[in-house]
Amino acid sequence: MGGAFDLSGRNAVVTGANTGLGQAIAVALAEAGAGIVAVGRSDMSETGDRVRALGRPFRAVTADLSSLEPVARVVAEAETAGRPDILVNNAGIIRRADALDFSEADWDAVMDVNLKSVFFLSQAFARRMLADERGGRIINIASLLSFQGGIRIPSYTASKSGLAGLTRLLACEWAGRGINVNAIAPGYFITNNTEALRADPERSGQILGRIPAGHWGDPRDLGGAAVFLASPAASYIHGIVLPVDGGWLAR
Ligand code: NAD
Repeated sequence: MGGAFDLSGRNAVVTGANTGLGQAIAVALAEAGAGIVAVGRSDMSETGDRVRALGRPFRAVTADLSSLEPVARVVAEAETAGRPDILVNNAGIIRRADALDFSEADWDAVMDVNLKSVFFLSQAFARRMLADERGGRIINIASLLSFQGGIRIPSYTASKSGLAGLTRLLACEWAGRGINVNAIAPGYFITNNTEALRADPERSGQILGRIPAGHWGDPRDLGGAAVFLASPAASYIHGIVLPVDGGWLAR
């Protein structure tokens, strides 16, 4: 990796980086040269080992993003590892139930992590990125449910559709000030998030049958898109939601 895709000397903050897509993104950004600050509520040691094995600095910041309480502290602790250049809003949750039975608790829990915290974390990091006028990159992890309705996941679909809109709004406000805000929409990947789907033979078969690539995504399939959007190669790209979905949306 080099040139237009080189992230040497950059610092990337990745939320929910202990596992799944967040871990794969953190490792890919580290492979491209970035130091990593991993933010989340779980043990980050596996991701830390993989980042350090690549010779990149790693720091873990413990934070439960279901409320705004840790936001200021996350920025302050992230800064001790160096100027935050890249923020990846990856942490997210899903709750499944029929729309007729869906509870207020499941609505609020998903919206708080997937949308509210993403906005206020982005605001806090953007203030820091704008303070020295060096700009930065914000990458939101959206979903196919940013484009489609889905079934039995009302708050998830609302949050990810909202996140696509928020990505565009922030891009409009900050593009001229040096911050690129974009999103990635992963298709169906093998992570904890899709465990229930993969355990259901009927749903799992329906999904697989619709993926032109013919297989579920491996988290490693996602890292390149994050590196691209974080890199100088994407400096004129603002407000897009980039699907990485094995062709699902093309179908
Ligand atoms: P995952 O469940 O393996 O990972 C979710 C991450 O978010 C974990 O690190 C978890 O600790 C963190 N997290 C959840 N609640 C948190 C909280 N309150 N505070 C701090 N961290 C919290 O699932 P994943 O598939 O790796 O999901 C990562 C992102 O990708 C999510 O935003 C998800 O919606 C999105 N996504 C996943 C898929 C897929 O197929 N797996 C598809 C589309 C979008």
